[in-house]
Amino acid sequence: MQGARARLALRTVGGHVADLLWPRTCPGCGERGAWVCAYCRLDLPLAHEPWCARCGARPCSCHAIPSVLALARSVGPHEGWLASAIHALKYEGESARAGHLGQAMAPLLHDVMADEPGSLIVPVPLHRRRERERGYNQSSLLARAAAGPWSASLCPSALRRDRRTAQQVGLSGAERVRNVDGAFAADVDQVMGRPVVLIDDVLTTGSTVAACAVVLLDAGAAAVAVVTVTRADWTARTWA
Ligand SMILES: [Zn+2]
Ligand SMILES: [Zn+2]
Repeated sequence: MQGARARLALRTVGGHVADLLWPRTCPGCGERGAWVCAYCRLDLPLAHEPWCARCGARPCSCHAIPSVLALARSVGPHEGWLASAIHALKYEGESARAGHLGQAMAPLLHDVMADEPGSLIVPVPLHRRRERERGYNQSSLLARAAAGPWSASLCPSALRRDRRTAQQVGLSGAERVRNVDGAFAADVDQVMGRPVVLIDDVLTTGSTVAACAVVLLDAGAAAVAVVTVTRADWTARTWA
């Protein structure tokens, strides 16, 4: 109990230090005081219904989503303040931003969970060495923030990344598939018979989540869906 209290106190101190180091700043325009200012939020139209029931896009772009994925949802395009926020989260150490982005994912995740009760929420894992370098796995932070009332379904240990891969950024579609082939392993005991919702920051070609989905389905998962913050094939005009 004491240990738990000490850990909580340390986390709180860490949170205050993080606030001092990174005061809430709009990633779109730099305005202080909020994770995104009202102007930038309005400037980037986010996904909204009606959308395709499988790919979550309008018009349907199911062809862009790997066939092993039963369903895909994303908050918005990889542009404007959303793209900058993900960059800050992944490459500038701004881990506190995951709370705000995760909350934006929450309604999408809750819909998927309500439709498939018993689903596991599984963040796309980093290789342990990359996670150590970054200090955290951004997808785990997003999953925790997005899960809310479904937090008991969080299951990060269901999937691990055994092989360290090159960054997908800058690779062609075929290179991306080869790069992540065989990189992941799923825990049969945890996923057998369960639907899985993968959580990731960006859906680009989908080759990373597809590689995860293949090993999850091989391990007996009932179906695999994915929820991400952004999707690279959408633009601000997609949802205008
Ligand atoms: Zn702004
Ligand atoms: Zn579709």
